[in-house]
Amino acid sequence: MNKIIAIDGPCGSGKGTVAEKLAKIFNLVNIDTGATYRCVALSVLKNNIPLDDEEKIIELSKNIDIKLSTDGKVYLDNEDVTNIIRGKEVSNIVSEVSSIEKVRENMVNIQRKMAENHDVVMEGRDITTVVFKNATYKFYLDASLDERVKRRIKQNKEKNIDMTYEEVYENIKKRDYNDMHKKVGALIRTDDQIYIDTTNMHIDDVVNKIKDIIERN
Ligand code: C5P
Repeated sequence: MNKIIAIDGPCGSGKGTVAEKLAKIFNLVNIDTGATYRCVALSVLKNNIPLDDEEKIIELSKNIDIKLSTDGKVYLDNEDVTNIIRGKEVSNIVSEVSSIEKVRENMVNIQRKMAENHDVVMEGRDITTVVFKNATYKFYLDASLDERVKRRIKQNKEKNIDMTYEEVYENIKKRDYNDMHKKVGALIRTDDQIYIDTTNMHIDDVVNKIKDIIERN
């Protein structure tokens, strides 16, 4: 089997940045699975599909064309959607879209295909429990809600996304709840994940900690 580093955790736990850095250190393909669900959500918005029309959303997710480039860009139908999928509109509906079981099946298939024939670092909510249950290394990154909101606001500023503290707080709280209570693919902690609370850690210390664990095993 290829080497797979699986990282799960709630938004703002640092997994995206950590995955990027690990990919560079160990020469891995970095797969951001949240981007795949965000592309489905964007497509739902673009096609004006009501959120309760699950059949149409499932159909759309079956035929969706998503590409993740090695430089971190995300393409939907060959259009660069890297920034727009991080915006308010997509963030507000993505956890509802990702709760549809058949959408998850379709995305899990796409994610597994992306990892074929590569050593990868893959981050999301169900990588350690569903997508790659037998991953070589399994991590769960966490941080307090307040810290995660602050981190997301900082990231948003860098990407020119305009959201208030309250908007980000409410969005993350709602997504945490939805993501942890899904019937399939819920974000959960298990005994075989290595748990890291990053609240008071610098991102480089998190990366070094994971690097040490990988190099020791
Ligand atoms: O990681 P990110 O915040 O970009 O993920 C966006 C949303 O996609 C999450 O809130 C979650 O609803 C969904 N997701 C998921 N399973 C994954 C990755 C993301 O359900 N493996």
